[in-house]
Amino acid sequence: MKNISVIGAGTMGNGIAHVFAQNGFTVNLVDVNPSQLQRAMDTINKNLDRQLLKGTITEEQKKATLANITVTSIIAEGVKNAELVVEAASENVDLKLSIFEQMDMYAPAGCILATNTSSISITKIAAVTKRPGLVIGMHFMNPVPVMKLVEIINGYATKKEVTATIVELSKQLGKIPCAVNDYPGFIANRILMPMINEAIYSLYEGVAGVEEIDTVMKLGMAHPMGPLQLADFIGLDVCLSILKVLQDGFGNPKYAACPLLVNMVLAGKLGVKSGEGFYTYTAGSKELVVSERFK
Ligand code: NAD
Repeated sequence: MKNISVIGAGTMGNGIAHVFAQNGFTVNLVDVNPSQLQRAMDTINKNLDRQLLKGTITEEQKKATLANITVTSIIAEGVKNAELVVEAASENVDLKLSIFEQMDMYAPAGCILATNTSSISITKIAAVTKRPGLVIGMHFMNPVPVMKLVEIINGYATKKEVTATIVELSKQLGKIPCAVNDYPGFIANRILMPMINEAIYSLYEGVAGVEEIDTVMKLGMAHPMGPLQLADFIGLDVCLSILKVLQDGFGNPKYAACPLLVNMVLAGKLGVKSGEGFYTYTAGSKELVVSERFK
C-alpha cells in the first residue's frame, strides 16, 4: 500500500496525514474548508519542527514528509487513486454517512474505507456503501504523532483479511494496534467515559474537590492525567455525546450522564477549547488552575 487519503484536516486528520507521510506513504489530505487545509499544513510543519528539535527526525525527513502530502477540497479528486481512505471528519452521523457514500462512489473498487470515529457504529457506516466488507474503524488517539495505540474496530461485515491488513499497516506506522468488535464505545470509550462520568458524579455529590479527585487517580492509579483534566482535554460536549451513544446503544441507565456534565455543556463550559471546564485555561500558561466555580 502506498496511496492514502485522509478526509478531514482537523485535529485528528492532520496528525493522521503527518504519521502516514512520515512513514513514506503518499497522502492526499481532503477538507471542505480550504483554510482548514492551510492550518493543517502549518500544524504539521510546526510538529515536524518539534521532532527536528528533539532530534527524532532529520531535516531531509522533514522535507520528505511534507513532500508526501498533497491537499484538495474535492473528495472525488482526493480519493481517486487511494488504496486506503481514513475518514476523520467531524463526529456527526449524517455527515459521515454522506462522506462514506461519496468515498464509495469515487475510490477504486478494492480500496479499504476506514473511519476514525470515536463512537459511531462502523456497521451502520459500512451499510451505506457497496463494500461493507472493506469498511473498518481505525481509531487513532490524540495527539496522533505521539500516542501509540490504534484501536481497530471490526464492523459486523468487515473481512478478516481487511483487519489483518490494517493491523499490519498500523505496525508500519510504528503504532500498536488492538483489534476489537463493533459495540457502542468500542473498548476505549466504553471504559473511559463511565470513569470520567463517575469522577464528575463524585464532584457533584461533594465527595471531593476537583484537585483531590484528579490527584487520587493520578497518584493512586498512575494515570498521567486525572479524569476531570482529561475530560476538559477531550471536550465536555464530546464526553456527553459519547455517554449518550453508550446509553442509547446498551439501553442501560448506568451510562446516564451526570447532571453537572449536562449543565456545564449547556453553559458552554466545554473544557480546554472554550477556556473553562473543571479548570480554567489561559493561552501560553501551563499552570493548572481549578475553575472559580469549583473552588
Ligand atoms: P475537528 O473538528 O478538529 O476536524 C474535523 C474536520 O472535518 C474539520 O476540518 C472540517 O472542516 C472537516 N469536515 C467537515 N465536513 C467535511 C466534509 N464533508 N468533507 C471533508 N472534511 C469535512 O475534529 P477532530 O477532533 O479532528 O475529530 C475528527 C474525528 O476523529 C471525529 O470522528 C472524532 O470523533 C474522532 N476522534 C477525535 C479525537 C480527539 O481527541 N479530537 C480522538 C479520537 C477520535
